[in-house]
Amino acid sequence: MARDAVLRLKRGHDRARVHPWIFKGDVADVSPSIEPGGAVSVVDAGGRLIGRGLFNPRPALCCRLVTWADEAIDADFWRRRLAAGVGARADRVGDGVRLAWSEADGLAGLVIDRYGPVAVLQTVTLGMARRRAELAAALRAVIGDVAVFCADDPTAAALEGFEPAAGWLDTSGPASVVVKERDVSLLVRIGGGHKTGLYLDQADNRALVGGLGAGRTVLDVFAYTAGFACHLLANGASRAICLESSKDALAGAVDNLALNGVAGRAELRDVNAFDELRRLDREAARFGVVVLDPPPFARGRAALEGALRGYKEINLRAIRLLEPGGVLATFSCSHHVGDDAFAEMVRDAAADAGARLRVLTALTQSADHPVLLTVPETRYLKGLLLQRVD
Ligand code: SAH
Repeated sequence: MARDAVLRLKRGHDRARVHPWIFKGDVADVSPSIEPGGAVSVVDAGGRLIGRGLFNPRPALCCRLVTWADEAIDADFWRRRLAAGVGARADRVGDGVRLAWSEADGLAGLVIDRYGPVAVLQTVTLGMARRRAELAAALRAVIGDVAVFCADDPTAAALEGFEPAAGWLDTSGPASVVVKERDVSLLVRIGGGHKTGLYLDQADNRALVGGLGAGRTVLDVFAYTAGFACHLLANGASRAICLESSKDALAGAVDNLALNGVAGRAELRDVNAFDELRRLDREAARFGVVVLDPPPFARGRAALEGALRGYKEINLRAIRLLEPGGVLATFSCSHHVGDDAFAEMVRDAAADAGARLRVLTALTQSADHPVLLTVPETRYLKGLLLQRVD
């Protein structure tokens, strides 16, 4: 039985007691019955059980633990795990919500985002990919009937050696869903756009920053489908300019602005944000609120230095574009850019701009993307909400 397969760690290689990732170099041996994608019991060099996880001989990261208890990884296990994740998010308002956030929910390799009647399932490991139907059944047992759309990341799938799924798992659902985020409506094209459809990780920040716009002009940089601009305009911002380079995202922005009845006060610019920020700076344009939410410039540690230069360049421009008392919400979603490096980069940009900025608050990913203290990789989005005080 696959459940009896055992992975034994080398002596002194038992970081897995606190962190779910096991690399090939940590492994002393595995039992012959082990199956790619199968469940394994992970034991220390002395044979004592550490936990259970899903194994894949192909990638360097060959096993991810999903439990540290002596329990079977079966249909009921997935149901309990998903129920815990859903229960922890019971107080969330709105009908776009991340229900499963991989390692942070004891579901390493699985992401589930719910958009009303649709659940988008993203499997990142072979073990999770093999269990799509079982996971969907467990999810339906917890939240009731939903249409399940599979949206695997092709890069992860290639690394793990499985065919990335892109489509409805069984019964099909609606092509698009309108979700409510506080008082704002956002259209999600199922199977289209970035991430699973929306940047749900920014939902809490959109609501927070959205409340700061009354009577102010807005510059929404890296706008995607204009989520920040919609919140700001719906809450009384006088005008918004959105900068975005993806045609699909811009089409989504047109829909969202119309859906919220704010299109008349918004202008979408199909531009490279770097160039347009420079141009606006040359024009000496000024805004009451600037949102800077770039894509990850640093996908790995090696790219860090160049990434920080890029971040600094756009932050410098954004700070110069702030009117007195203006507010900047600036973000980085690169896990490799730490809080300190991020703050230092913004500090340098402010110094170069000759601006004094008060920290209103530090920002992070939405609460439905929880962070596990012992798994730093679960935290990736960081930001600062700053006000120009000179
Ligand atoms: N703020 C958005 C999410 C932004 S994600 C929200 O809350 O929904 C980053 C966006 O930047 C993506 O939509 C991507 O298409 C866009 N982008 C990436 N590089 C860009 C560039 N050089 N100029 C303009 N937009 C860019």
